[in-house]
Amino acid sequence: MVYRQAKWDEPLIYELGAPGRIGFLVPEVEEEIKKEVGEIKVPDKVKRSEPPALPEISEFEVVRHFVNLSQMAYGVDNGPVPLGSCTMKYNPKIAFEIANDLRVTYLHPLQDERTVQGLLEALYHLQKWLANIVGMDACTLNPAAGAHGELTGVLVIRKYHELKGQLDKKTEIIIPDSAHGTNPASSSMGGFRTITIRSDADGNVDMEALKAAVSEKTAGLMLTNPSTLGLFEERILEIAEILHEVDALLYYDGANLNGIMGYARPGDMGFDIAHINIHKTFGSPHGGGGPGAGPICIKERDVLPEKGVKLSDLLPGFIVKYDEKTGKYYLKYPGPYSIGMVKAFFGNVGPLLWGFTYILGLGSQGLKEVTEQCVINTNYFTKLLKGTKGYDLPYGPERFRKHEVVFSAEPMAHEVGVTAEDVAKGLLDAGFYAPTIYFPLIVHEALMVEFTDTETKENIERYVARMKEIAEIAYKDPKEPKKWPVNTAKGRIDTVRASHPKFVTPTWRVHVLREKGLLRALK
Ligand SMILES: *Cc1c(COP(=O)(O)O)cnc(C)c1O
Repeated sequence: MVYRQAKWDEPLIYELGAPGRIGFLVPEVEEEIKKEVGEIKVPDKVKRSEPPALPEISEFEVVRHFVNLSQMAYGVDNGPVPLGSCTMKYNPKIAFEIANDLRVTYLHPLQDERTVQGLLEALYHLQKWLANIVGMDACTLNPAAGAHGELTGVLVIRKYHELKGQLDKKTEIIIPDSAHGTNPASSSMGGFRTITIRSDADGNVDMEALKAAVSEKTAGLMLTNPSTLGLFEERILEIAEILHEVDALLYYDGANLNGIMGYARPGDMGFDIAHINIHKTFGSPHGGGGPGAGPICIKERDVLPEKGVKLSDLLPGFIVKYDEKTGKYYLKYPGPYSIGMVKAFFGNVGPLLWGFTYILGLGSQGLKEVTEQCVINTNYFTKLLKGTKGYDLPYGPERFRKHEVVFSAEPMAHEVGVTAEDVAKGLLDAGFYAPTIYFPLIVHEALMVEFTDTETKENIERYVARMKEIAEIAYKDPKEPKKWPVNTAKGRIDTVRASHPKFVTPTWRVHVLREKGLLRALK
């Protein structure tokens, strides 16, 4: 099959249109509402001297612009995106319809609770279901993404030690070297020193390294299980015991629950806090960097028994409660022991409703089937690719993988100079998305593959066939892969230049727009 991506010479939206063209009409405010609200006076100091330089374009220009751009992009609605750890599964359209229903999108966060009972009921159930899925007792939907959930969890750990008057000595958080980069970042942002411990040859936490790292200074441990290598941590119960002995809390990075959902629960493994990525496990789209949702759940435990303070009292955000007497849902505001708010109002309601629909639609049996299919897909892929010249499978090659698997292109890179990046470009060229590459850092030339539950057997086979073909080409003519991709809208990007801060910061984009005279009003 030949793949060709569209190549439009598409201008910036600021370069399109002409003065006076209109794409959307804001409805007139009804007289009745005007009377009720009265005249709104905008304070002089917030008024602009000139209107903002917004593009003036007609509806069809907007539509064509974005359709053209979408034809130069690739997403889960085009084909497989087996980005390990990031989990790009198909986003069911029924959930889109629910989350985008006008009865939802037209709600205002300051509306009276009595007028949003339906929404609160959905969020209330979601809190319960999520807590149940991870085997915990309470949940806040406040955080906006996985990394945000981690930071929230770390701040809860901090508050826990602070309330117990032991924050002075609890200064360290232990994190295995296979962890997602956001873990050490969250620990540092939360004010802790990160202690990294190595993994053993089978991909488990190295117990000697763990024991050497744990001390009275240990405030917590952040662990992903199954790890980013897709391997289940076999000694998790022992690990939990070691940590709890020094009054450290166990944090579960539950960005990805596809490998265990319905079969194992972090709460039963000894974890105290967990975040969940709705946009990874529960089918809401990642959507160009956001919005996502990263609720956190906690296992109840005493913090200050003499005052009756429990770990759930530390959670941030409005938490939805149900009053049995009145039969109404209401919001519990952060109390005196809460870390406060980490996001305005209820968090990102759209993705949360998407997750609600996903769980409601599948039911508990369906969620188990998601896990089964996901694990079968990973191991089917592993079995088909294993042994192919050019690729290697480090860390317990005989072990079963859960939601993902990390191969290495090191043999190919070493023997003929064709790298994981070249393999990725070769996949793009054939109309697939690339796996996650060069992560986790403990695997050289890493190719981290996750098909999720939604990919078909045929697509997995086609993917493997292409990976084998790439290896064959690499050994026959190692110069060829360096030219890839040629069939995509853009050729190979200079990744070094592209990662230079000058080229990636929003300030730079503003700078360019201003140079083009497109942001005159932006003073
Ligand atoms: C994606 C991911 C995160 C971070 O989640 P975001 O929503 O991208 O902030 C954390 N840990 C793991 C293992 C992940 O895969």
